[in-house]
Amino acid sequence: MPFFTPSPRSSRPLRLVAPWLAGALPLVLGLAVLYWQAERDLAIEAHDTTRQALAQFELMLDNVAESANALLPLAGQPCADATLALREQVTRRPFVRSTNLALDDHLYCSSLFGDFSEPINPGDYVDGRLWLMDGNPVTPGQALLVYRAASDEQTALATLDGYHLANALRMIGRDQTVLLQVGNAWLSPDGQVHDAPLPTFAIAPTQLTSDRYPLSVASGYPAGTTWHWVFSQYPMLLVLLGVLAVVAGSVCHWLLKRAQSPRAELARALEAGEFIPYYQPVIRSLSGRWSGAEVLMRWEHPREGLVRPDLFIPFAEHSGLIVPMTRQLMRQAAEDLRPHAERFEDDFHVGINITAEHCQDLALLDDCRDFLQGFPPGRVTLVLELTERELIRPTPVTHQLFAALHNLGVMIAIDDFGTGHSSLAYLREFKVDYLKIDQSFVATIGKDALSGHIVDSIIELSGKLDLGIVAEGVEDEVQRNYLTERRVEFLQGYLFGKPMPIDAFIAAL
Ligand code: C2E
Ligand code: CA
Ligand code: CA
Repeated sequence: MPFFTPSPRSSRPLRLVAPWLAGALPLVLGLAVLYWQAERDLAIEAHDTTRQALAQFELMLDNVAESANALLPLAGQPCADATLALREQVTRRPFVRSTNLALDDHLYCSSLFGDFSEPINPGDYVDGRLWLMDGNPVTPGQALLVYRAASDEQTALATLDGYHLANALRMIGRDQTVLLQVGNAWLSPDGQVHDAPLPTFAIAPTQLTSDRYPLSVASGYPAGTTWHWVFSQYPMLLVLLGVLAVVAGSVCHWLLKRAQSPRAELARALEAGEFIPYYQPVIRSLSGRWSGAEVLMRWEHPREGLVRPDLFIPFAEHSGLIVPMTRQLMRQAAEDLRPHAERFEDDFHVGINITAEHCQDLALLDDCRDFLQGFPPGRVTLVLELTERELIRPTPVTHQLFAALHNLGVMIAIDDFGTGHSSLAYLREFKVDYLKIDQSFVATIGKDALSGHIVDSIIELSGKLDLGIVAEGVEDEVQRNYLTERRVEFLQGYLFGKPMPIDAFIAAL
């Protein structure tokens, strides 16, 4: 049934891909939001850490600066007199490693050695106050931060051990790298002093400068940290996203499958009123006048155009929608024909095709009553056409139904007669009024002797049983003459008119 198979070029790949897209959408959006949130978290974290590290270094330097400032008035005194004070500062201040005094930029007294002689260069000190050194002769290669307090020719130096600084860098910056910068030199968490530009950080680069000391703290994360953060910080949200993706994909798949099913498509079309009646005239063979019409269903499909009934009627029967579809068709036909009833000849036969299943439904009686209502009495005869291919199961319901239909004046025709296996008993049981010779037999008239013989037999049978007879599929004059000569009363076929919409039918009437 090609009609229900979606067209292979456009819709099929889309149907396959759509559930994946529907599943991917919440996943991608969710991950984007989590990524954005992680970037924000990292930026806040980097800023907090940097601020904390800066505060820590300022606190340490306060300690060292106080020590140097306390010793400054002693610069110039003989070293022997000052040594005790120098050592006292080293002992009492937690971060002070050594202290020194200098006069006229010449270091002359040290807490470690007492008398000592070494020139000092104020230019080594950033802002004249801080020097990040890569060790001294006592501890070469071990970082030192020297604070210089000076007034006129007096100078006091206090030294902070790089060990404390590196420790703080490591402790504070657990996930990120934190660096201490003084002038052009910077200290890394491994305690090394580097005389080079600061490295740049891929993620959340942050730098804060102290407003009290000439130093700054920089921090940031290496590339890839954001995803790492997403996976380590939001595991439950990720699980939720995964579940959401699966649910969205499955729902989409289910919806598409449902929408794709022939039943859903038919139900949609029924709702949209896409099933419409076409009318094919039936003529009286002797007079050539229109004696009635057969109502044939067409599907006005929004994409496929006009669809022939043999492409969808089997599905409609199978899905149980044929009953409401036929009901809608009968209502539409009544509405179409009623305004023109006075132009029909008396006893105008309107044929409606009914499936065997429909005959198990007593509501058919109401449908027929509704159809006949509104026509002037005796003007229209309703004929239910039951195909011989599908025999009706006799049940209490069918007996009741056919008796009531008979009383209502509704007639019964056996459609496609000659193709099935109806018996004499069957024809009697359902009070059949007409036989419609199947068009396959009519088509062979004058061509095939055996089929011609079948036509003759059916005509003879109908005469014996006193049934009316209709020949369908009459396409040429040979067939017409043959059937007319044999007193087939009603003829239907392209020779007289194709099935047509109501306007064309009324115009041709
Ligand atoms: P059917 O009841 O035997 O209807 C006659 C079919 O023969 C119609 O086809 C009609 O267009 C076609 N026909 C009429 N004259 C000629 C002719 O001279 N030459 C040829 N080659 N064909 C002719 P259609 O309309 O396509 O309907 C096909 C079948 O679909 C119908 O056969 C009927 O079994 C079913 N059908 C149509 N409408 C309905 C309906 O409302 N309900 C049900 N249950 N079945 C329907
Ligand atoms: Ca028919
Ligand atoms: Ca037929």
